[in-house]
Amino acid sequence: MAAPAKTDADQKAPPPSEVGIAIAGGGLGGLALAVGLLERGFDVHVFEAAQELRTGSGTIIGLAANANTALDGLKPGLHQAIRDVGSVSKEMVFYRLRNGEVVETKEAKDMGATGVMVVRWQSVQNILATLVPPERVHCGLRLSAYESVEEGVNAVFDVVGASAEHHYTHRNEQAACGQRTVRAKLLVGADGIRSAVRRILAGDAPRYVRHLNWNAVVPREFVPGLSKDTLHRTEDDVTGLITFKADAGHGYSFWQVRVRDTDCRLADSLGPTWGGLGKPGAKQRALEHLEELGEAYDAVRSAIESTPEADIFERRLMANGPIDTWLDADDRLVLLGDAAHAMHPGPGEGARQAFEDAHQLCLALVDEGAAALDRAAVGRALKRYELLRKHRCETVQAMALEGSGLPPEETVPPEFRDFTREQKNDRFKEFASWLQTYPDNPVGDPNSRFFKPPAELEEIT
Ligand SMILES: Cc1cc2nc3c(=O)[nH]c(=O)nc-3n(C[C@H](O)[C@H](O)[C@H](O)COP(=O)(O)OP(=O)(O)OC[C@H]3O[C@@H](n4cnc5c(N)ncnc54)[C@H](O)[C@@H]3O)c2cc1C
Repeated sequence: MAAPAKTDADQKAPPPSEVGIAIAGGGLGGLALAVGLLERGFDVHVFEAAQELRTGSGTIIGLAANANTALDGLKPGLHQAIRDVGSVSKEMVFYRLRNGEVVETKEAKDMGATGVMVVRWQSVQNILATLVPPERVHCGLRLSAYESVEEGVNAVFDVVGASAEHHYTHRNEQAACGQRTVRAKLLVGADGIRSAVRRILAGDAPRYVRHLNWNAVVPREFVPGLSKDTLHRTEDDVTGLITFKADAGHGYSFWQVRVRDTDCRLADSLGPTWGGLGKPGAKQRALEHLEELGEAYDAVRSAIESTPEADIFERRLMANGPIDTWLDADDRLVLLGDAAHAMHPGPGEGARQAFEDAHQLCLALVDEGAAALDRAAVGRALKRYELLRKHRCETVQAMALEGSGLPPEETVPPEFRDFTREQKNDRFKEFASWLQTYPDNPVGDPNSRFFKPPAELEEIT
């Protein structure tokens, strides 16, 4: 386990005033990028707003072939290191219900999904953190502004003195007790869904995607009857209720309940925050949605009942939409991960795409000869990265919403709305198969029906 990095506020050595690459955000994307850049000899430092790298999230991530390839591309053996602490599911079973009664059972492989490795979010974070020397991780520093200057970019960080909370809460409003300015040749905004870098660059804000979600990582025995080899997902056609349970490796299991909130009433009742761990009443609110439902929900119900409320993560699901560019005009700044493309978590692609981003940014910097981080080479690398990543991630964002079960008139393009269940399946199969061929066909699969590269990007390989 990584020793938590010390807060810069009480740390002896302040961060250097000049660095090669500054990464704002020490989450999965920022740390993965740091690992890949260090592997390639870049001078990189991570600046994290929280007092220490986040360790608790009550969440798992599911990693598939594309993420595994990206991880090994960042650092050989990284995928195996994560696999060693996770659980590899051999099959995923989807139960379609109607008012609580199972009407269809399907295996994921029939829907084009490949084997998924399920691993606790915190284990992945810890593995990545151990690969970045502590003197290169500076906690308690929250990016609040940046300015391009002749020699690079001045990144301004607020020194955050108050206790840190998960960024689904209002931590970003915590008072600062001073500022530090760090000059970098390149600033990467990997500061997550509430990205300050993005806010300054694009001025938009994430929106509620009208699902409320409860989840927890718990001791395996809390989820009765769960086989280590199988992921279970239920979705009710009528109520839209989704449940999910999976083994998470090393004696842990994961449960999740997600409810549709089309008119936003449920979210409104939670107040202004996006959610958080251990919100009073969270357990009862999760259980309410399972009341009077049949035995298909017994295991999840029992898991929730066994889970201490402090370990239940309740949140509204948020996402952002496409923006014109992920780069600033001066070739000194770029977005990565959720800051660039936070998406509905339905297909489990958020972290996978962040790892692909990190991998492609590393490759672009090397391929464009940006070892010395001179402006022209960095500019070429950033443009290449954006071309390779933006269209792909926007497609994944759109498909994540399309598969969410939210009203089709808002989430499905008109030409696909009347598709039969089988046609929809074919479309999602093609999508999954395109994703998994990473790094081939980055902007679209020429042989697919639905995911061909757009004409203007056809030349990109
Ligand atoms: C319920 C749920 C289930 C999910 N399941 C999956 C899954 O199965 N598979 C998958 O691939 N993905 C999944 N995801 C998505 C995944 O967790 C995210 O996409 C991923 O963590 C994004 O990484 P990131 O580095 O961009 O952001 P984060 O990991 O959120 O990291 C951002 C970091 O930046 C810090 N920060 C914020 N503001 C500042 C600032 N101003 N200055 C400095 N630091 C700052 C934050 O404290 C945080 O540490 C899921 C998400 C949810 C909500």
